[in-house]
Amino acid sequence: MLILYDLDDTLYSRTEQLPDDYGENELEAITPFPGVVDLLRQKRMVHVLVTRGETVLQQKKLAVLGLTPLFDRVFICPRDEDKKQCFREALQKFPKKDAWVIGNRLDSEIRYGKELGLKTIYLRHGKYSSYVPRDAFEVPEYEADSFEDVVRILRENGA
Ligand SMILES: [Mg+2]
Repeated sequence: MLILYDLDDTLYSRTEQLPDDYGENELEAITPFPGVVDLLRQKRMVHVLVTRGETVLQQKKLAVLGLTPLFDRVFICPRDEDKKQCFREALQKFPKKDAWVIGNRLDSEIRYGKELGLKTIYLRHGKYSSYVPRDAFEVPEYEADSFEDVVRILRENGA
């Protein structure tokens, strides 16, 4: 199983733990959602992070969260639409018939995942949680209210 993760509001609460205009110093207090570290420690899956943002800030977030060594690969994209190409590269590097995308944006990682035929889990969390799908590509296979719910869905599907 290959799992592609978003970072902000998927592995920790960006909306609750950081102000809108945060800088590097504010990152020190962020903590992962319960269940994140346990899932990422499981070696039978391949774990890949695909996040949009500034490289220095996104890398620092991963370091503060204690997640850096737990990923098999980390992609940091300058623009949201670049995530789709990162997904393709991850699929080429880690070819698995069972590939999943987990994220909090229906119009971003869920859409790109579905366009590529991946299974999707939408974590309804943060400031985009009231977004309404524009078309079928923005309707996820699974919806979770917490990261623990994400883990339960993966387990029920053979993780
Ligand atoms: Mg996000």
